[in-house]
Amino acid sequence: MYRTMYCGELRPSHIGQKVTLAGWVHRQRDHGGVTFIDLRDRSGVVQIVGNPEVPGAAMIREARVEWVLQVTGMVRRRPEGAENPNLPTGEVEVEVLECEALNPAKPLPFVVNKDEDVDENVRLKYRYLDLRRERMQRNLILRHRVVKFIRDYLDQQGFIEVETPILFKTTPEGARDYLVPSRVHPGCFYALPQSPQQLKQLLMVAGVDRYFQIARCFRDEDLRGDRQPEFTQLDLEMSFVHRDDVLNMVEGLFTAMLPVVAPHKKLLASPWPKLSYTEALERFGTDKPDLRFGMELYDVSDIFASSGFMVFQNTLKTGGVIKCIVVPGCAEYTRKEVDDLTSFAREQGAKGLATLALTAEGVKGTAQKFITSEETAALRERTGAGEGDLILFVADQKTVANKTLSALRLLFRDRLQLADRNTMAFAWIVDFPMFEWNEEEQKWDAAHHPFTMPRLEDLSKFDTDPGSILSDAYDMVCNGYEMASGSIRIHRRDIQFKIFQLLGLKEADIQQKFGHMLEAFEYGAPPHGGIAPGIDRLVMLLADEPNIREVIAFPKNQAARDLMADAPSPATDKQLAELHIRVELPKEEQG
Ligand code: ASP
Repeated sequence: MYRTMYCGELRPSHIGQKVTLAGWVHRQRDHGGVTFIDLRDRSGVVQIVGNPEVPGAAMIREARVEWVLQVTGMVRRRPEGAENPNLPTGEVEVEVLECEALNPAKPLPFVVNKDEDVDENVRLKYRYLDLRRERMQRNLILRHRVVKFIRDYLDQQGFIEVETPILFKTTPEGARDYLVPSRVHPGCFYALPQSPQQLKQLLMVAGVDRYFQIARCFRDEDLRGDRQPEFTQLDLEMSFVHRDDVLNMVEGLFTAMLPVVAPHKKLLASPWPKLSYTEALERFGTDKPDLRFGMELYDVSDIFASSGFMVFQNTLKTGGVIKCIVVPGCAEYTRKEVDDLTSFAREQGAKGLATLALTAEGVKGTAQKFITSEETAALRERTGAGEGDLILFVADQKTVANKTLSALRLLFRDRLQLADRNTMAFAWIVDFPMFEWNEEEQKWDAAHHPFTMPRLEDLSKFDTDPGSILSDAYDMVCNGYEMASGSIRIHRRDIQFKIFQLLGLKEADIQQKFGHMLEAFEYGAPPHGGIAPGIDRLVMLLADEPNIREVIAFPKNQAARDLMADAPSPATDKQLAELHIRVELPKEEQG
C-alpha cells in the first residue's frame, strides 16, 4: 500500500495514529539537526519532521524539492507556537519513522511551490510541472465541478449526452476547417467539426428530443486574442421549442450552478436582462456589453443638428452620428492624458476624439470653443453629466463611433475599476440580423450560421433587402464576453435551400456540402433550437483567470503550437506517401 491517506486530510483527530503518505517534497528546511519537509499531494500539504536519531530521517535530509517520497510516521500535535493557522493541516505534523524515495527529481526549470510569474512559454513547455502549482490544480478541479454540475443538471432535465464524430465533414461556423487526409480514400479529407451543429440537428430529426454534449470544437482561425484551435463547449439542442424555452433552460442551469461551483460569485440580475442587438449597440456600442457598470453611450446627433463645429457638421451631413460617453471624475485630465485617449480612439478606427470637461472653473476641453452653452445644457440634461466629469465624443459613421466608444468604455472600466469582479452580469442579446454584408468578398454571410431560422415574417424581404431580415438567434453574454450563441433552426428544406443560395452557394455545391441536411429535413424534421455555451471562458471567469489557457490542461500557445510535445511537426516521408500527400513549402520556409 503506497499510502493510508492523503496529506491534506490530516487533522487533530488523527493524532496518535500511524499513517503512510506519498507525495512530493514541497519545501524543505533544517532547524538545528531536525529536518522539516512539507509533503504535498493533490489534497494539500502536511509537515513532516525528521528527528536525527530516527533512521528514516536520513532520507528526509537527503531528499530535495519535488522528489517523490513515501513516508510512514506518527501524527502528533505541533508544539505550541508552531501551529500554522493558514494551513488546514496546520495543527499537526507527522514524525517520520520510515521514508523511501520513490523517485528523485532534477532541479525544476521553475518553482512550483509559489505562485511566481514564470514566462508562459516555459510554463507551457513543462506544463506537467506547471500543473503541479496550487492555482492550476484549483482550476482543473473547478473545471471538473462545472462539467459535472452541467451533466447532472441536464440529466435531471431529461437531456441525454450523445457523442458525435470528430472525423466529419465541413460544418461552417465562420472559420477555416482542420482537414485530416484519408489513407484509404486517396485525395479525400475529413474535416474536424467547427461545432457539432449539423449532427445535433440530425439528432433532433432522429427523435432524441433533448441532446447535450461536452463537445470539442476545432476552428482554424488567425489567432487573434484569446483563442484556441480546439476548445470545449456545452453543445445543446432541444426539439419542439421556441426561443424562450431554450433561454430559460440555460438561464436555469447557470443560475443553479453558480452557488454550487463558485459561491463567491453573484448574479447581477435575475431574471437576466434581455437586450435586442440594436439596443445593445446603441447603449453600449457592442453586442457583448459588460453590464456591471453604467457609462452608457448617448447619441447626441440631434443636440448638434445645427452645430457650428465643422467636424460635427460634416459628420452629420455624410450620414454619420455624434455619440458620447461621460467619464466620471476625469475633468481635470491633462493635455497629455487627453492626447493618449485620442491616439487610442484612432487605433480603434475613429478619425479623432472631441472632449468637453465640466470643471469647477467652467467648461474646458478640445471641443469647448465649438459648443454653445445651450448645447452644453442639453448634454447635461441628456447624459446626466455633472461637475468633475469628462465627456468624450466620437463623430463618425455609427459603426466606428460605437466601436471606439465601446473600447473607451472598457478602458475606463479597468482604469477606474468600475466593475466588480465577483459579479456575473449574464444577459441575453436577441433579435440579431440574419445576414452580414462581407465587404471584401461582396456577398452576404450568415451572421450566426446558415442553419439559423430567419424571422418568418421577414421572408418576403429575401430578394429585396436581406440586410434587414432578423433571425431567431441569441447570444448569452457575461462581463463583456460572448459566452454562447444559439438559435432556433431551420427545419424546412425550402427555407434552408434559399438561405444557402442567398449565401452565394451554387446548387451543385449545396448538394455536395449539405445534401444530407436538406434530405433529412424532408423526412419529418421537428421544429428545434439550441445553443452552445463555451466551457473554457466560463471557467476562466469563475476562476478569475485572465485568459482561457489558464483553465485548459494542455493548451496551445498563441501561435497555435503545443510547446511541450512540439506539435505540429513534420510527418515522415513514409506517412506522407501512405496519405498520398506531397508537401510544397512556402518559399520562405524552404531550406
Ligand atoms: N453551433 C453554434 C456554435 O458553435 C452554437 C449553436 O448554434 O448552437 O457557435
